[in-house]
Amino acid sequence: MPNLLDYDLAGLAAWFEELGEKPFRARQVMRWIHREGCDDFGAMTDVAKSLRAKLDALAEIRPPVPLRDTVSGDGTRKWLLDVGGGNAVEAVFIPEAGRGTLCVSSQAGCALDCAFCATGKQGFNRNLEAGEIVGQLWLANKLLGAASAPAREDENDNGRVISNVVLMGMGEPLANFDKVVTALRVMLDDHAYGLSRRRVTVSTAGVTPAMDRLREECPVALAVSLHAPDDALRDRLMPINRKYPLHDLMAACRRYLERAPRDFVTFEYAMIDGINDSDAHARALVALTRDVPCKFNLIPFNPFPHSGFARSPVDRIRRFSAILLDSGIIATTRRTRGGDVAAACGQLAGQVRDKTRRARTYPLQMMEEIGS
Ligand code: SAH
Repeated sequence: MPNLLDYDLAGLAAWFEELGEKPFRARQVMRWIHREGCDDFGAMTDVAKSLRAKLDALAEIRPPVPLRDTVSGDGTRKWLLDVGGGNAVEAVFIPEAGRGTLCVSSQAGCALDCAFCATGKQGFNRNLEAGEIVGQLWLANKLLGAASAPAREDENDNGRVISNVVLMGMGEPLANFDKVVTALRVMLDDHAYGLSRRRVTVSTAGVTPAMDRLREECPVALAVSLHAPDDALRDRLMPINRKYPLHDLMAACRRYLERAPRDFVTFEYAMIDGINDSDAHARALVALTRDVPCKFNLIPFNPFPHSGFARSPVDRIRRFSAILLDSGIIATTRRTRGGDVAAACGQLAGQVRDKTRRARTYPLQMMEEIGS
């Protein structure tokens, strides 16, 4: 039975057409589902009763099911969401003054195996469906009491509890291209969430051909996980670099910017003690990104059990950031949020029924610690 969360407006219109219904029905139902947070066809009062009954028999609105809801001391909220087959993914809501950001997962696990990331250590099971991706937004809106709620004092300037979405949860979004683009279209659609392209960010480890496709099909804000200024180090930290090395990646960033809603790329850079955080690394980054309009987001490395890495000391991060700033690059240091509930960058692990051999190379106890 089709899950209507899987469709963007064009997909929904096509589905209604197959049923012999008018395309405006798609807009109506889209608004009920995403604007009102409605999962009951019976409650769609401006839809003809006979059609409501038909929808009830033929389709469903099936969001991911929350298994756990954890609130951090700093207000960050993390949901563990069941996506079936023994897999669960995580979504994180990060409230800040003037905005609320939802961090969304795109895959159950991740196949890229970056050395410093907890998700990678769990291996990979499958791509999420579009409805499982946008369903995280649907559900978070509902659980935060945001769906069709009257404007409140504490809401952000955009008038919404969730004003920004970042695809920075579990998985590599550009390795699940079609489903991610469908979900993005729903996030952007005025009949659904109506988020601006500048407030929806796709983060990639650097799948360059898919960056080109995104630029054509659905340009949104782009973040690129960089983490190293040279191929030798990046090959070691991020195996995907062996396929798409830095020279290609920088060129892909420049091409992306020709169509992007923002005029810069955000480079994410985890600060890992003694690995990628020297003055020389900072200077090499300046040289590497000379031709790419960019901002840097320095992420103090978030530890997880048996990672084998440590966070750079505060002074080191300050010095590193000063070198970037002195050369004219805007660099901010991400304040670690949700660290006490393992909701910070690189700490999301959910539950993954690994289909690769990777997780087997780690002791079971370690996997339990990461997943806990
Ligand atoms: N696969 C995509 C989306 C993940 S976003 C990507 O690589 O961009 C998650 C961000 O957190 C990425 O920038 C990732 O490199 C970073 N990250 C991963 N592990 C981390 C850790 N342990 N500490 C800090 N940042 C980490």
